[in-house]
Amino acid sequence: MPLQFASRLDNVETSAIRELFKLLGKPGIISFAGGFPDSALFDVAGIQASVDAALKEEPGGALQYGATEGYEPLRTQIAAFMRGKGVTGLEPTNLITTTGSQQALDLLGKTMISPGDKVIVEGPTFLATIQCFRLYGADLVSAPIDAQGVQTDKLEALIREHRPKLVYLIPTFGNPSGATLTRERRLKVLELAKQYETLVVEDDPYGDLFFGEAPPPSIFALSREVPGSREWIAHCGSMSKVLSPGLRVGWMIAEPGLLAKATMCKQFSDACTSTFSQATAAQYLKSGRMPDTLHRVRQIYAERAQAMAHALRRELGDAIEFTEPKGGLFFWARLTGAGGKVSDAGEFAKRAIEKGVAFVPGAPFFAKDADASTLRLSFATVGTQKIEEGVQRLAQAL
Ligand code: PMP
Repeated sequence: MPLQFASRLDNVETSAIRELFKLLGKPGIISFAGGFPDSALFDVAGIQASVDAALKEEPGGALQYGATEGYEPLRTQIAAFMRGKGVTGLEPTNLITTTGSQQALDLLGKTMISPGDKVIVEGPTFLATIQCFRLYGADLVSAPIDAQGVQTDKLEALIREHRPKLVYLIPTFGNPSGATLTRERRLKVLELAKQYETLVVEDDPYGDLFFGEAPPPSIFALSREVPGSREWIAHCGSMSKVLSPGLRVGWMIAEPGLLAKATMCKQFSDACTSTFSQATAAQYLKSGRMPDTLHRVRQIYAERAQAMAHALRRELGDAIEFTEPKGGLFFWARLTGAGGKVSDAGEFAKRAIEKGVAFVPGAPFFAKDADASTLRLSFATVGTQKIEEGVQRLAQAL
């Protein structure tokens, strides 16, 4: 008899994207499919210096088990980092460190979602969140977005109708949407959280990767402007996209009751996030290298994003629609089908791989009512010349 897996897995499929990734081994392929930062941009020397400093200054702390809530010096550094981004009134005890922000999402699922609970997510949203929340039995409701992020009037109607357990948003340079919620809509979200006493999860791994002007302050930072709203916001942050995903260092800020429950669940999950990684990240933040690192990666991603925007307009013309992202790693686009060209992104992905270029079709990013004409393209790991070449190949696949 085959192994009998837990019934909670019944509603979760392996990701369609992973299946596509199997095809990426083809030699010479140009991939816009990844969701990774560029490893060539990692500050290896800075991280090496931070490792050395961690082992020299705090070998016990860096190599021993640590507190489940997180390594104290790192919590202090993260609180300072968040203050630098406009957050007021934040103490290190108001956050826990997590094994990537992915673990924060999992802990939110574990602590908040019972089978059958309604959860509102953006349509489209981060695929791993869809899968993770479904694992806990969430009944996902999809809130529509436009170029300015979630449409708050529609969100309010959905909150009224479904009374969700939580609302999950990626308000800044969303994955996959690339969209950024306006300041006005952020304030509206805070009003909604307070009015309907609904937990709003702000997932913000990309907010530091802006290309020109900084985006509006995070929803969490703006909570100071809406008295009584802060306790309804959980904010997830990450070192992955700005420093290194291999460190697996993220964090969650939330009200004390939720943090306590999440910490309890984390005890059974990994006891603590790698103290070695946490001590390294703490040293890195303390060293003052982060502003330079951010400056450098922002510039390079900005050039790549611009190259992709120009090439898409020139090579694909009216066959594709997109809004140029102002930060992050992604373009979210829609095939128009103009002039009888392909309008199904799954079909387009197959043809594109034959021409030697890959991207991810958008449908799996929707919890409900998938739009099969959408696709996600990442420029992050491809140099500008290869971006040109890759987009030319896309045009051949239309
Ligand atoms: N949230 C979003 C929106 C993401 O895109 C990612 C990474 N792809 C994560 C969370 C998880 O990142 P990490 O666990 O590396 O912090």
